[in-house]
Amino acid sequence: MFCRDCGEKLSLRFMENEGLVPYCNKCGKYKFPFFPVAVSMVVVRRSDRAILLARHVGDEDYKLIAGYIKKGESAEKTIPRELREETQLTAINWKYLASRYHDAKDILMLGFLVTCDDGELVFNEEIAETRWCTPEEARQIIRKNSTAEFFLNAAIAELGRKK
Ligand SMILES: [Zn+2]
Repeated sequence: MFCRDCGEKLSLRFMENEGLVPYCNKCGKYKFPFFPVAVSMVVVRRSDRAILLARHVGDEDYKLIAGYIKKGESAEKTIPRELREETQLTAINWKYLASRYHDAKDILMLGFLVTCDDGELVFNEEIAETRWCTPEEARQIIRKNSTAEFFLNAAIAELGRKK
């Protein structure tokens, strides 16, 4: 780990109420890590509660709709923007599910259950294929032990509570 401001190698120093935090000796400051934040959406169609999974170009697995939160943007703003950009669907409402740090990409994912309208789905060039699934189908085709599966299971549990 190196200082993002001066390039010096960081050490860990004890900070009260925080524990060990990266510290730059040259800057004389604690350097909390920066990482991107994204929303991961379990998109459910209002009329029949079907769950949307999408397969991206060059990808084998079906995934959830996800997108980075832009600088200065709230997660509440990212949700309708990303859904519209990727599918042309309109987000009607959403509920926060859980968050998970995705180590492979060094990114914090915020999981939401998003209800969308029954509009026509028109996906952009990044997506190769989409599927509307029952909860059972979605569970079968989502990649096992993935962050997407974790959010999917949380969403299905939430949908079960709503009945
Ligand atoms: Zn520094």
